[in-house]
Amino acid sequence: MNNKVCRQRREYRATIPGADKATYRKKYDKAMSGRDPKAAIAAKCLDCMHWQRMRIRECPIVCCPLWPYRPFVGNGEAA
Ligand code: SF4
Repeated sequence: MNNKVCRQRREYRATIPGADKATYRKKYDKAMSGRDPKAAIAAKCLDCMHWQRMRIRECPIVCCPLWPYRPFVGNGEAA
């Protein structure tokens, strides 16, 4: 991975907001490892909903390919 990609990912990671940002940054790291598809889906949905996990449950974009796999819709725990 080149320096530009590393810098872009580091800068993006630093923008993850909220009280749960440490948890979400770990999830982002797992997603970007390329070894955890569940973390990738969770990180994408969190990003899509501005890192507000309760909004994922109410996602109205039912045509999104990730919709059936959304995290935080069952028992409140991430995948
Ligand atoms: S399922 Fe909803 S929250 Fe997740 S990526 Fe798709 S549109 Fe965004």
